[in-house]
Amino acid sequence: MENCLFCKIIAGEIPSTKVYEDEYVFAFRDINPQAPVHILVVPKVHLDSADQITEENAVHVAKCFEAIARIAKAEGLTNGYRVINNCGADGGQTVMHLHFHIIGGVKLSEKIV
Ligand code: AMP
Ligand code: ZN
Repeated sequence: MENCLFCKIIAGEIPSTKVYEDEYVFAFRDINPQAPVHILVVPKVHLDSADQITEENAVHVAKCFEAIARIAKAEGLTNGYRVINNCGADGGQTVMHLHFHIIGGVKLSEKIV
């Protein structure tokens, strides 16, 4: 997708600190980390948000979660972590390419649910 920041990062057109990549998934460190470990996990296909997940494309989401478990182990997050998806404007999403935040490396306090 043209003019999508995360599509450009996946394509290597914009630099990132890559932590994981496979056929389906690209993961890199958030530029503005909110915890000692803050990684963004994105599907390589462009989906605007979680609101676009369907039966047909759900494999890309499943692959993200497989990657999340693998990355968490590699990052040493043995005591847990949080996975966050901000969906749409009211959900606080600022980059409109579906992504999951892995937040960890510290005991997390703030919780909505
Ligand atoms: P969200 O607000 O859920 O859409 O998350 C977007 C995230 O992308 C924010 O946490 C930003 O800090 C992060 N971000 C924006 N630009 C970059 C970039 N060039 N490299 C890495 N992370 C970025
Ligand atoms: Zn994109």
